[in-house]
Amino acid sequence: SKRWTVAKMFEGEPKMSDFQLVEEEIPTALKPGEVLVEALYLTVDPYMRWRSYEAGETLIGEQVGRIKVSNNSNFPEGTLVLAYTGWRTHSLVSNTEENTFLGPIVKSLPDFGELSPSLAIGCLGMPGLTAYFGLLERGEVKAGETVLVSAAAGAVGSVVGQIAKIKGCKVIGSAGSDEKCDWLKEIGFDHVFNYKTQTVDDALTEFAPEGVDVYFDNVGGDFTYDVLKSHIKFGGRIVACGSVSSYNKSEDERTERSIAKFVIYKELNIRGFIIGAHVKRFAEGLSEMLRWVREGKIKYKETVTEGFENMPNAFISLLRGGNIGKALVKV
Ligand code: NDP
Repeated sequence: SKRWTVAKMFEGEPKMSDFQLVEEEIPTALKPGEVLVEALYLTVDPYMRWRSYEAGETLIGEQVGRIKVSNNSNFPEGTLVLAYTGWRTHSLVSNTEENTFLGPIVKSLPDFGELSPSLAIGCLGMPGLTAYFGLLERGEVKAGETVLVSAAAGAVGSVVGQIAKIKGCKVIGSAGSDEKCDWLKEIGFDHVFNYKTQTVDDALTEFAPEGVDVYFDNVGGDFTYDVLKSHIKFGGRIVACGSVSSYNKSEDERTERSIAKFVIYKELNIRGFIIGAHVKRFAEGLSEMLRWVREGKIKYKETVTEGFENMPNAFISLLRGGNIGKALVKV
């Protein structure tokens, strides 16, 4: 069995030398209630960069796996599961273990029928549900409103834009390459712009002259500064979902202070959002999302890196914008 640990806490962009691959014997003796999960697909997500690690700690994260050995009648051998066990090829878990973030550490995969089980860590998993609850519960979008989403070609952003379209909104998305923008047009975004070649001011003056009602913020930093300064409507709503532009930085005081100023003078409603607070309603969100995916109303892409050995590369690439749609690793 293999697992990836942090050799040294990241400073700036994560580097290959910050990671260490540890090899161990696969456990065979299971206590009553325990299961051994073998990873099939592992996710890499921006939040993995956000938290700090002790040297030697295994990187955190979810995976889609299969029960390889079982001493638990709830999980017979062969069962597909979602396991929150980190960057590991093999995980020994007892099904009573809980994690405060996403519920039980190991749970059976919902039945997606003909769809790939990898969607359970993508548009039919945590990122998709982040889009769903973030936009609907915190954004409270109404038909006819103008919605802006940043990091729009990512796992969360691409679903946010499509749900906003289902709800009858005008949707503007930003992404870091023309290829990403082309895909966003294909899946129904009204307007898209490449923030690396067009400024936020130019793009939003053209695409949202009326102003933005709801800003689904995945990036923070200068991008958000520009939106708040000149393009959000008085009384606008911000779903503060992520701040990926700052994850590799130590501190960005100027931006935070300025954002606070705009929020105050414009009576903005910034609505913090954390997916872990919506776990009780996952089944409900998932059944609607599954219907939309089956009806073709929500389309998805996956950027798949092959091989457990390449997890750090997949993670580094994600933070550089190398993915379209959900970034994941196939063992
Ligand atoms: P993505 O698939 O969107 O991948 C991250 C993307 O961020 C990259 O592809 C890149 O796209 C973009 N990016 C990287 N650096 C910058 C930068 N400096 N400025 C602007 N964009 C940048 O990841 P997810 O969909 O998984 O996550 C999106 C956001 O949602 C993250 O901020 C994440 O932390 C947050 N999140 C929050 C949750 C919550 O509960 N609040 C739950 C899940 C996610 P590009 O080429 O466009 O630059």
